[in-house]
Amino acid sequence: MIYLDNAGTTRVDDSVLKAMLPYFSENYGNASSLYTFGQKAREVVEESRAKVAKCLGGSADEIIFTSGGSESDNQAIMSAARFGALKGKKHIISSAFEHHAVLHTLNRLERDGFEVTYLPVYSNGIVRLADLKKAIRPDTCLVTIMFANNEIGTIQPIAEIGKLCRQKGIIFHTDAVQAVGHVPIDVEKMNIDMLSLSAHKFHGPKGIGALYCRKGVPLFPLIEGGAQERNKRAGTESVANIVGLAAALELAVKEMPKVSKKLTKLRDKLISELSKIPHSALNGDAINRLPNNFNMCFEGIEGESLLLSLDEKGICASSGSACTSGSLDPSHVLLAIGRPHEVAHGSLRLTMSKYTTEKEIDAVIKAVPEIVEYYRKMSPVWDELEKGVRKHVI
Ligand SMILES: *Cc1c(COP(=O)(O)O)cnc(C)c1O
Repeated sequence: MIYLDNAGTTRVDDSVLKAMLPYFSENYGNASSLYTFGQKAREVVEESRAKVAKCLGGSADEIIFTSGGSESDNQAIMSAARFGALKGKKHIISSAFEHHAVLHTLNRLERDGFEVTYLPVYSNGIVRLADLKKAIRPDTCLVTIMFANNEIGTIQPIAEIGKLCRQKGIIFHTDAVQAVGHVPIDVEKMNIDMLSLSAHKFHGPKGIGALYCRKGVPLFPLIEGGAQERNKRAGTESVANIVGLAAALELAVKEMPKVSKKLTKLRDKLISELSKIPHSALNGDAINRLPNNFNMCFEGIEGESLLLSLDEKGICASSGSACTSGSLDPSHVLLAIGRPHEVAHGSLRLTMSKYTTEKEIDAVIKAVPEIVEYYRKMSPVWDELEKGVRKHVI
C-alpha cells in the first residue's frame, strides 16, 4: 500500500506508541486522584504539557488538552465570541477556505447574530494583509485564520496577521492543525493568542489535541463538569493520549529539518512531473505551501473515479478533505481559489509523510497520467473539449 493521505491522518510512530502503552496498563491511575498512584499520572501529564509548550514557544500553563483539532477550534472561537459579545463586539474576521470545524462554528455564531467577514484567498490560496486591514472594525472581537490549508497546503502570513491584531487589540486564533509539527511555529514571535493542534496529524494518536491560549486571553470552557485543565476543559485526563501527543510533537519538531527537506524535493518532483499532463493545474501557491502537500486539478476528470482507480493500484489518495469526501459537493477550498465547479470536481490531493519513499512517488508519477488518459478517452465531455465544442478552462 502507498499511503498518501497524511493530511487526513497519519500513522502513529512506533516510539510514540511505546511511550503510551504503560499508561493503559501498569500506570492507569486517574491524574486527578490524590494518592501517589494517581499523582504519577498527574506528573506525566504536566511533563507532557511542558513539552508541548516548549515546542510552540509558550509556557505550560497556556496549554490545555482537548479531544482534537475540532474541539480546540470550537472552544477558541465560541470563547472569543462570548467574550466579545460581553463588550458588545459581535464581528469576526476569517477566511473563505477554513476547515469545517471553524466554518461551521462561525455559521452557528452567524445564526446567533454575529457578523462574519470571510477574506478572499485569491488564486494562490493566500489571504492578503491589506484585505484584513480593511475588514477590521471597532466591533471586531476575533480574527481566526488557519496557519496552513488542509486541502492545498498554502501557508498564510501568520506573523504579519498576528502583529496587526496585537496592534489593534483583537484576539487572533489560528487553526494550526496542518502546520504544527510540519513547519516552525513560535506563538510568541508570531503574536498568536490562540492556536489549535491535533496529534493525529503528526504521527500521534487520534482523539487528542491541544489549545494554546495566551495568558490574559479569557477562555471559557466548552465542556462543563470537573475541574480538570484548570476549569477550562472538564473530563478525566486521557493520560496515554496526552503522553502520545507530547512524544509525537517533540519527535516531529526534532525531525522537521530533515523531513521537510526530503518532502519538499518529493513534492516538487510530483508537481513538475504531473504538470506534464495536458490541461492540468496546480492548486495553490507552488512555494508557499506545506512540504508534504500536492494538489492538482485535471480537466475532464471526476476526482472520485481517479481515487477509485488509484485505490485499485493500492494508492491511498484524496480529492479534498476527508470530511467532504462522500458528498458530491465540490470542495469549498477549490471554489474559494476560483476553480470553476466542473474543474473543482477533478482534483487530486496527495499528502506525504516521513515514511513516504521516492520509489512510491515514482509509482504515482507513472500511474496518474495513465488513469487520467483512460478516463478522458471514455468521457463525452472530454470529446467535446477536444473537438472545440466546449472551451478548455485550464
Ligand atoms: C484535521 C483538521 C482538523 C480537525 O482535527 P481533528 O483532531 O480531526 O478534530 C481541523 N482543522 C484542520 C486544518 C485539520 O486539518
